[in-house]
Amino acid sequence: KQSPIRTVNPFTNQVVSEFDVMRRTQVNSIVEKAYKAFALWRKTSFEHRSYLLHKVASIMRKRKIELGKLATLEMGKLLKESVYEVELSADIFDYYARNGAEFLADQPLKITSGSAFLSYEPIGVLLSIQPWNFPFYQVARSAAPNIMAGNTILLKHASNVPQCAMIMEEIFLEAGVPAGVYNNLLIPGSSIEPLIRDKRIAAVALTGSEPAGASVAAAAGAKVKKTTLELGGSDPFIVLADADIDKAVHTAVYGRMWNAGQVCVSPKRVIVPGSIYYEFLAKTKNLFRMLKTGDPMDSNTDVAPLSSERAAKAVIKQIRRAVEQGATVLMGGNRVDHPGAFVEPTLITGVTSEMDAYREEIFGPVFVLYTYRTIDEAIEIANATEFGLGGSVFGTNIEKAIEVARRIESGMVYINHVTGIAPELPFGGTKHSGYGREQSPAGIYEFVNPKLIRVT
Ligand code: NDP
Repeated sequence: KQSPIRTVNPFTNQVVSEFDVMRRTQVNSIVEKAYKAFALWRKTSFEHRSYLLHKVASIMRKRKIELGKLATLEMGKLLKESVYEVELSADIFDYYARNGAEFLADQPLKITSGSAFLSYEPIGVLLSIQPWNFPFYQVARSAAPNIMAGNTILLKHASNVPQCAMIMEEIFLEAGVPAGVYNNLLIPGSSIEPLIRDKRIAAVALTGSEPAGASVAAAAGAKVKKTTLELGGSDPFIVLADADIDKAVHTAVYGRMWNAGQVCVSPKRVIVPGSIYYEFLAKTKNLFRMLKTGDPMDSNTDVAPLSSERAAKAVIKQIRRAVEQGATVLMGGNRVDHPGAFVEPTLITGVTSEMDAYREEIFGPVFVLYTYRTIDEAIEIANATEFGLGGSVFGTNIEKAIEVARRIESGMVYINHVTGIAPELPFGGTKHSGYGREQSPAGIYEFVNPKLIRVT
């Protein structure tokens, strides 16, 4: 028998609940249900789907405190962040409910004679594999466009957020979405491969780590199934000499501490010109001194525990390795004297190109500060990673900031803002951060067949 899937509260490291992993026969019947539901769901009107998705959004808003508490219980983030996440997720459902029909309307093509148009058709059952760091938002950005497009969903959520996964399925049913359109699979990542080979599953979307993405894409590729991958990043945050320093420091520090640093688009490498380095560093230290680590349910807490003991240990290991390789920890660097999965807010300088920390992603509250002399040097540091998800440029001369933004190898760059999230803006990366886009009109075209119909 497989070990159960557990809710472990990262604030206390105590096991709260346990759930049996679904048996193979049960998984098979859920896949069959999703496959059969597709045949009916694809025939429903956009109006009908839109009505139901708006209902999902309104139930989420009504239950936002309850849902927020559940996310905080299972993966540790601050309650205020959890509640914001539930609202953002509801916005994503509303966005596709409102705009999906327009995005997927037949698109006429300009041709010299006769007529031609694209008809956007759903492709079937989408296996959606999602991580724990935004247990509702990650589900919303995958499920909303696809359900609107007429696909059905098998949601394989991360094993540490089983109750968030289950409550989402409950909400879809409460909204009146027919059974089989959105389905929760309570199984570990290690049981996914046979499902990818299953003929009833059309495509796979994954957000998570690079190894998970690579193995899922390989299995899907062997069966010629499309994938989208969002695999995290090590975003650069380039400060230009003319930047508003206070704003840049504040944005970088709070941006980095958000979700205890477990955000794929967190400013993981802050790159500051030598001319303002010491002022920037002093102001960063001042803000660090004000950060309060503690109970994520408490509205006065700034820095939450990490999602699990395993995650906290992994981050501490990365910090230790950076120090062994010659980096300097100016603040933090240790576990907090509390039973939970805490890591102190940590400020590191002196990371050079020979060190692992120069390239890798650190998924925790670790702020790494770099300095540069020329813009070319800043760009070199920014691009010296396999990742290419987001990035920020801070400067008052916007034209100059845009010029720098163009040279960053990533899927998104925000000027004078931390890399953000909004339903109407695309989200996704390049290089080892993966491929494909979620949110925005782009997010609804990933798993549809743009069929050409030509009339002569
Ligand atoms: P994983 O990639 O292991 O987990 C993400 C999801 O993928 C989970 O649902 C997981 O299921 C599933 N999964 C894992 N391995 C496989 C596999 N071989 N086949 C199919 N599904 C799989 O991330 P972790 O939670 O272990 O986090 C590790 C690192 O990943 C982080 O430190 C961070 O660098 C990165 N990450 C990036 C995220 C992002 O937002 N882009 C989010 C989360 C992590 P299960 O939980 O059952 O293993």
